[in-house]
Amino acid sequence: MPGTFSFEKGASRFQMIEAQAARQGVIKRYRERLPEIPEAAIVSIGEGGTPLIEAPRISERAGASVYLKFEGLNPTASFKDRGMTVAMSRAVADGNLACICASTGNTAASAAAYAARAGIECFVIVPAGKIASGKSVQILAHGAKIVQIEGNFDAALKLCRRIAEERDDVALVNSVNPDRIEGQKTAAFEVCEAMDQPPDVLALPVGNAGNITAYWKGFKEWRKSGLADRAPRMFGFQAEGASPLVAGHDFDNPETVASAIRIGSPASKEDALTAVRESGGLIESVTDEEILDAQALLAREEGVFCEPASAAGVAGLLKLAREGHGQEGIAVCVLTGHGLKDPQAVVERSHLPEPVPATFEAVGRYIERVLS
Ligand SMILES: *Cc1c(COP(=O)(O)O)cnc(C)c1O
Repeated sequence: MPGTFSFEKGASRFQMIEAQAARQGVIKRYRERLPEIPEAAIVSIGEGGTPLIEAPRISERAGASVYLKFEGLNPTASFKDRGMTVAMSRAVADGNLACICASTGNTAASAAAYAARAGIECFVIVPAGKIASGKSVQILAHGAKIVQIEGNFDAALKLCRRIAEERDDVALVNSVNPDRIEGQKTAAFEVCEAMDQPPDVLALPVGNAGNITAYWKGFKEWRKSGLADRAPRMFGFQAEGASPLVAGHDFDNPETVASAIRIGSPASKEDALTAVRESGGLIESVTDEEILDAQALLAREEGVFCEPASAAGVAGLLKLAREGHGQEGIAVCVLTGHGLKDPQAVVERSHLPEPVPATFEAVGRYIERVLS
């Protein structure tokens, strides 16, 4: 039974309950701020409660105090789980037999896991050959039904919307489903709670633009309930090859190494632009090179490994600083997904050295060379 534990030895019962409380899932933790969901319908794998990590090396470069909200530590290793727990719980409460989503990978991985947990069927519609390997593996492991289409994410989303419209036993769990936004806004609450106040800037990658919409909703609600008297400026960053919000028009063939934000026609574009306008923020683009450099910097100097798209917020802050627009105060960068999602992005830029003899001399020589 959730919430009850009995242990003979080791950690006391109390400590276990305390430890568990931090990862009780976002519905239970923020119940009064979320749509009502019957207890019996809750589908949770302990999402949320992710750490806010200080980033001294990035801070030095960005000219601001930078903190990393590491969403790669959610159950399926991306922030998508926060919205999925709410959307899937509702799908169950409404008696759906299945869920469906279009995905660049992480929505599908999350939907697959939560549908497995809920005991309903999961259909994921993805662009053929465009899903990072870690995400494909998750979808397969959880037993979702994959439909690869000869088209991009935007085409996949259109198909899903139509199918969910025509079948009332299939729930659409993309971020156009308002339950997803509701769940995702809890990350803004966690940031405010962890720092005891909202940051000055929140920087994050923007693809379909659900997440920037959700954060802004969360910060506004936090302010409205009197827990803070201000809200952060929202800084959204798109990859240059998939930057419709920056260019002001859709992209027919979005291209970027950051597959999670390879989207040419963001479903929540109006809400994203509203968030930027209301908060006094900005939407900018960063190049693939800037994204990969930021990813490497995070991994090599902060010890935090995120997938390429997730580094766009950091890439954006560093770019602004280089252009003389360093941010004062506290900036939180959302690292949306874990680096292991997309091993190829790293493997392609690195190489394993040739083997050496299994001798003390050979290994010693190598270490000497590196350290001298
Ligand atoms: C989904 C996703 C994004 C983009 O979020 P949107 O809500 O589509 O803007 C960014 N990074 C990762 C890792 C994602 O999975």
